[in-house]
Amino acid sequence: MRIEYDYDTCIGMFQCVEEWDAFERDEDAGKAVLTDSEEDGGVFVRAVPEDAELDAKFAARTCPVDAITVYDDDGEQLVP
Ligand code: SF4
Repeated sequence: MRIEYDYDTCIGMFQCVEEWDAFERDEDAGKAVLTDSEEDGGVFVRAVPEDAELDAKFAARTCPVDAITVYDDDGEQLVP
């Protein structure tokens, strides 16, 4: 499973931080930070460990502006 986080879209309400601890707060920027990710054109990407799949999906589901997207290993979009 893979997760993508769109930095520009994020409005910093930090619901994702409550769902998966890979998301951290950057209070100064008013943006979430996706730890251990790589940036590609403003989109931060990383693999989701098997034991964090549920948390990652909840993070994507809870984001009010759909800045977080989760894909399965075939590249199919799962959430939102
Ligand atoms: S829930 Fe969405 S808008 Fe809120 S901090 Fe996380 S990524 Fe940003």
